[in-house]
Amino acid sequence: MNLMQNTFANYQRELRFDFAKHSSIGCGGYAVAAYYPTTAEEFVELVSLLSKAGEPFTVLGNLTNVLPPDGKSQNTVISTKRLTKIAATQNGVYALSGVSSSMLLKTCKGMQKSGVEFLEGIPCTLGGALYMNAGVAGSYVSEIVESVDALIEGKLVCLSVADCEYAYKSSVFMRKNSVIIGAALRLRSSNAEEITAKTEYYRARRAHLPKGRSMGCVFKNPSGAVAGKLIEGAGLKGLRIGGAHVSETHANFIINDGGATSAEIKRLIGIIKNAVFAQYKIRLEEEIRYLP
Ligand SMILES: Cc1cc2nc3c(=O)[nH]c(=O)nc-3n(C[C@H](O)[C@H](O)[C@H](O)COP(=O)(O)OP(=O)(O)OC[C@H]3O[C@@H](n4cnc5c(N)ncnc54)[C@H](O)[C@@H]3O)c2cc1C
Repeated sequence: MNLMQNTFANYQRELRFDFAKHSSIGCGGYAVAAYYPTTAEEFVELVSLLSKAGEPFTVLGNLTNVLPPDGKSQNTVISTKRLTKIAATQNGVYALSGVSSSMLLKTCKGMQKSGVEFLEGIPCTLGGALYMNAGVAGSYVSEIVESVDALIEGKLVCLSVADCEYAYKSSVFMRKNSVIIGAALRLRSSNAEEITAKTEYYRARRAHLPKGRSMGCVFKNPSGAVAGKLIEGAGLKGLRIGGAHVSETHANFIINDGGATSAEIKRLIGIIKNAVFAQYKIRLEEEIRYLP
């Protein structure tokens, strides 16, 4: 830790990074430190320093699809939230991984470029969206990716969309040690009216989503089925463990009422998986990522 403090003193950082404060689910303990690179160069440098120091780390965006650990995390956090540069390109935009969906939408609208509207209301950073292949209503981030700059297994590479191996809620980044730095997105020229209308369409589709602290959908939809319907069919809506319960509005959401621990949420997830398997012989698979 002394080594860390001396070597990394130049980077913006937060000691005792509180997961309950920073995550959308609002639970969990803390990481000893979080670093906030502000440029792509700093980001790459930090990753290299941490790797050389043998310090395990997790790169995080908005923490909207993760379940943090209770207590102390084994890993240092690198937060991308200050990597917010975005610029026009010939085919669309280039954005660093910490650009939020709202900033991306606003900037692209200002540039009269269309294609990112489906991200309206998804509370993500671009890096999180690229990692998770985020999307809604049949539109996924993979459809607008031109290329992604990333460190894969420690090597700086520029991946084509094919190299990203995108599939439903799946990407190469989940299978290899990956740090997403930024991406070129392919967009098309449009006008403010068309962009506003599309954004409104996606906003309206989200009106039914549960309010409260959650991670969004906990489970992926199994092939040919909808996870929320299976959970509802198993009679689990409203099921509560401690401060967490299965949403009454959308059964694929677990809501933290304020005092839930990660352990309680994990127990709820286990019960849901067992009950759905017992009733339908379908194994639900988590969409959310467990943080070490
Ligand atoms: C209310 C609510 C609604 C939601 N609705 C949707 C929806 O409609 N559609 C949808 O797809 N998702 C939805 N989500 C889930 C979530 O917003 C998305 O999965 C999003 O893409 C996660 O982005 P993030 O920045 O929060 O990533 P995080 O949660 O911070 O991270 C998610 C994963 O990505 C990794 N990661 C993040 N950034 C990087 C990086 N730069 N380099 C390497 N790895 C990285 C993390 O290590 C982690 O494993 C919703 C969540 C909430 C809370």
